[in-house]
Amino acid sequence: MIYKPFKDLRVSWLGMGNMRLPTVAEKGPIDEPAARALIDYAYGQGVNYFDTAFRYHQGESELVVGRALKAYPRESFYLATKMPGHQMEYRNGKLEMTGYLTGFAISSIQEVFERQLEKCQVEYFDFYLLHNMSESSYSLYTNEELGVVDYLVKQKKAGRIRHLGFSSHGRAETIEQFLDWADARFPPQTFEVAQIQLNYLDWTLQNAGKKYEVLGKRGIPVIVMEGIRGGKLAKLGDSSAAILTAARPERSVASWAFRFLQGLPQVLTVLSGMTTMEQLRENLELFSRHDPLNDEEQRQLRRAVDAMASLVPCTGCRYCTEGCPQSLDIPRLISMYNEQGFAKNFNPGGLTPGEQPAACLNCGACSGICPQGIDVPGVLKQFAAALAAIPAA
Ligand code: SF4
Ligand code: SF4
Repeated sequence: MIYKPFKDLRVSWLGMGNMRLPTVAEKGPIDEPAARALIDYAYGQGVNYFDTAFRYHQGESELVVGRALKAYPRESFYLATKMPGHQMEYRNGKLEMTGYLTGFAISSIQEVFERQLEKCQVEYFDFYLLHNMSESSYSLYTNEELGVVDYLVKQKKAGRIRHLGFSSHGRAETIEQFLDWADARFPPQTFEVAQIQLNYLDWTLQNAGKKYEVLGKRGIPVIVMEGIRGGKLAKLGDSSAAILTAARPERSVASWAFRFLQGLPQVLTVLSGMTTMEQLRENLELFSRHDPLNDEEQRQLRRAVDAMASLVPCTGCRYCTEGCPQSLDIPRLISMYNEQGFAKNFNPGGLTPGEQPAACLNCGACSGICPQGIDVPGVLKQFAAALAAIPAA
């Protein structure tokens, strides 16, 4: 296992994400013996960073991870979890859960934090993150009356949090604005780590390179999520895969995603949400040697990305969706359009007729709003044509 230094810590370069633990049935409860076997094996092989969150596996992940890690000396692993502010609303002095936490009886951020310590059976968290600080959660996380960050800073001073961070699917500009806000409130630096979606495809597609730069300017290490894009970078289309295989026949297509990340010095750990022992063993092998891409391999990787059809650089900011008379989920459709451009066996599944790209009226209400300059109706038209060309199953 490769380790990266962080302050006085040595963090394993492979971190275990605990959002895709094995379950008893599809979408069923966690298969705890199987999950424990994975966590035990990972720990035994040197993985020391374990990431969970309040509602991973409907709240079970924190419990299972807590029970599994209880078997080991507290100082021998780093436990990270997150405050689910992205699923909260604060109105008239009242905190309410929204989205996938709707109806969950919690009335304060203190209650969330205390419950997390209890669930994980620990006295402190090594890393505590705001969950998905983005355009939609920015106002909650910066609400001074609610005081989420103030509360967490106090917990850190009390030794109940060792290092503060945030995860984000937001835009680079939002991350920068948030860091400015936080550092003005708690100088000189409030957040010590940031978890972002980072891989060679999203480096440009989701502007991850810019986010990496924003964090780098402030010396904030990066915790990588979706380093292999939920497995998609292991199953490229034929032409892209052929380029990579020709360049390094002995290395798997998936290894290029990890080797790309190895060339980024700010990366502290790469999270992988592993479900099977086979995935864990493969990852352990990939993370056992330092083998970053050389200049020629970087060039071949760019060729492989170019061969993935033309990808639309949507960041998912949702600015375009508000005025759509058809209430189309435009970023979702663009994401699907991108997927069908490079994934094998694309399945558009689950779109009702009213949600299809063909429902676009070409009214132009979204045109000109997109900060990425995307011709939304044009993309939806192309997507509709691509879907129409897929033979019926
Ligand atoms: S052009 Fe299409 S996607 Fe854009 S606002 Fe109009 S209906 Fe919605
Ligand atoms: S199409 Fe543009 S405005 Fe709409 S979500 Fe994507 S980046 Fe944002």
